[in-house]
Order: sequence, then structure tokens, then C-alpha cells
Amino acid sequence: MVSKHIVGESWCRKYLADQELFQLLEKVDADIIEEARSKGCLLCGGRLHRGDYERKPRGGPQWETRFSLCCAEEGCRKRHTPPSVRFLGRKVYAGLVVVLVSAMSLGLKPQRVQCLREALGVDRRTLEHWRQWWLVNFVQSSFWRQARARFMPPLCQETLPLSLCLSFAVQERRDRLLDLLRFLSPITAPWVAMQQVG
Ligand SMILES: [Zn+2]
Repeated sequence: MVSKHIVGESWCRKYLADQELFQLLEKVDADIIEEARSKGCLLCGGRLHRGDYERKPRGGPQWETRFSLCCAEEGCRKRHTPPSVRFLGRKVYAGLVVVLVSAMSLGLKPQRVQCLREALGVDRRTLEHWRQWWLVNFVQSSFWRQARARFMPPLCQETLPLSLCLSFAVQERRDRLLDLLRFLSPITAPWVAMQQVG
């Protein structure tokens, strides 16, 4: 079990207002997209060009686009959307909001959770939906089934994603949170990694 006294509301709030962090994550996504572009189309080997689309997450960073690529080859035109450290699948909130608010709400009294939800415009149902997503969809995903082996001792799945945050020591430094978001980034291509097994 995770002891509650090490769950800091302060570090979550700090990150959720950290403009430099938001810029850093955008830059990381820009690097990811350029690397993917340089590899060309995975289907036909054709040239890829940028085909970003509008994506404005709620409750946090003022990002406007999800970086994406399209094949320029006539007859292929395949869209490629590489992993992202900013967006978690199709969720309408930024990935770091889903991670941090879910984690923090596990260690806080209900009235504090309510304050936090109100500050970020997250309703109770959404928070509950995230909780189920971590406990069911995430835990059963092929991504997690493969990735969990790297944690020794094994992570507490009941307290996800708080146990993940503590394992990455995200409260210590900004780049630890970045490491965690990088770790989670494969699930941002949900058609690949989030298929439920069994
Ligand atoms: Zn192509």
C-alpha cells in the first residue's frame, strides 16, 4: 500500500501550472514527429508530410494541435499519428492532467478532491471514469501486461496511477514526469496497444 502522507497535493498543482513543462512536452512531441517523418511511410515508403489536426485539451495546457503525418504518395495517403507525451488516447484532457489528478485524488480527502476538480473543470463522473480506465482498461491492456515486468517490486495496481508516479519519483523533478509520460506514450496509439487481451 502507498502511505498517504507522501502523496503531495503540492507537486501535482505545481506541475499543472508549469508553463515550462507544457512547452517542454510540446517540444518532445515535435521531436517525435520529426523522427517519424524522417522514416517515411511504413506502408509504401513514400514521403510523409505534416497533417496536424486540431486538438484542444481541457483543463490545463493551451495546446491546439495533435501532431500527425500523412503519406504524400498517390494511392496511399495513409495517416500516421506517432505517440505523444501530451495526449492520452482519445481523452479530452491532457495526459498529464489525467495522470496527476487521478493520482492525487487517491490520497486526498473528498473535499480537497472537489476543490481540485472545480479548479480544473473536471466533473465527478469524469474522474470516476478515469479511475475505471486505470483499474480496468489500462491494467488489462497488452501494453501494461508487457511493461509491468520492469517494476520490481511489482507496482500496486489498485493505486494506479499513483503507484506509477511514485515509482518514477515524479515529485522530485520535472524530467521524471516527462519520463513517465514517455513511458505511457505507446498507449496514445490506442488501436495498437490498448486492445484488451482475453
Ligand atoms: Zn504511403
